Amino acid sequence: MAKNVAAPDKPVAPKARKTSKTYGLKPSQRAAPVAKSPKTKADKQRVAGVVLERLKAEYPDAHCELDHTNAFELLCATILSAQCTDVRVNMVTPQLFKAYPTADALRIAKLEDVEEIVRTTGFYRAKAKSLVGMANRLVDLHGGNVPRTIAELVPLPGVGRKTANVILGNAFDINEGIVVDTHVQRLSRRMGLTREPDPIGIEKKLMPLFPRQDWALLSHLLIWHGRRTCFARKPECGRCVVADACPSAGVAE
Ligand code: SF4
Repeated sequence: MAKNVAAPDKPVAPKARKTSKTYGLKPSQRAAPVAKSPKTKADKQRVAGVVLERLKAEYPDAHCELDHTNAFELLCATILSAQCTDVRVNMVTPQLFKAYPTADALRIAKLEDVEEIVRTTGFYRAKAKSLVGMANRLVDLHGGNVPRTIAELVPLPGVGRKTANVILGNAFDINEGIVVDTHVQRLSRRMGLTREPDPIGIEKKLMPLFPRQDWALLSHLLIWHGRRTCFARKPECGRCVVADACPSAGVAE
C-alpha cells in the first residue's frame, strides 16, 4: 500500500508583525529605542558617572516640580500627577490643601467636593476616591502621618512603588529606590544603561550604577533633561551635554 506522501510545504508568507509591542501605540507611548552599547557593567558605570556629573552641572537646582510644603501635600500631589502634568497638578493643589490641609480633614471630605477640585487633572473620580481613601488609611493606621517605608506606603490607595519613592526621596530624604517615570524610562534606555522594558526592571538595573545618596536627585536630573532636551519625539542631541557618552546620540527617534 502506497504510503501517503505529504504534499510539499507551500511557501509560507512572512507573518505580519502583529505581535510587535509597539503596534498601535502612539510614538510617545512606545519604549525608547534600546542603545546597543555600553555592554559591560563597567562601561555602564562609566556612562552613568558622566551622566550624573554633567546633568548635575547642567541643572544645579533640579528638584521635584510638584508644589508642596510637607509630606502629606506631596503625597496628595503625587497621586494627582498620574497621567497629568505637574503644571496642571500645581494649579489645583492650592485649593485642595486649603480645604483639606491634613489627613484628618481630607478623610471626612465629601467625595463630590474633592472630585470638583481635582476634576481638571483627569481620572478625577478615581483620584478623589484614592485621596479620601488614602487619608482614611493614614488616620486609621499611621496616626494621620505619612509613613516612611515603602512597605507602609505602597498599600495606600493610589500609591505604587513610584509614588512611594517620590515621597521617601523628597519628603524624607530617604533613598530607598529610584523614581522611574516615563522620562527616566526613556532616557535610561537611550543612554544604554538598561534594556529593561518596565519600570521595576529599570529601577533594579539603575540602582547599582549610581551612588545611593544621589538616587532621588538622579530622577529629577533625568526628568529635567527629558523635559528640556531629550524629548520623546525629537531629542535635541546636538545641544545635549551627555551626547559624547550617549550611544543614542543622533540616532534616537
Ligand atoms: S544624546 Fe540625544 S538621545 Fe542621548 S541623552 Fe542626549 S538628547 Fe537624549
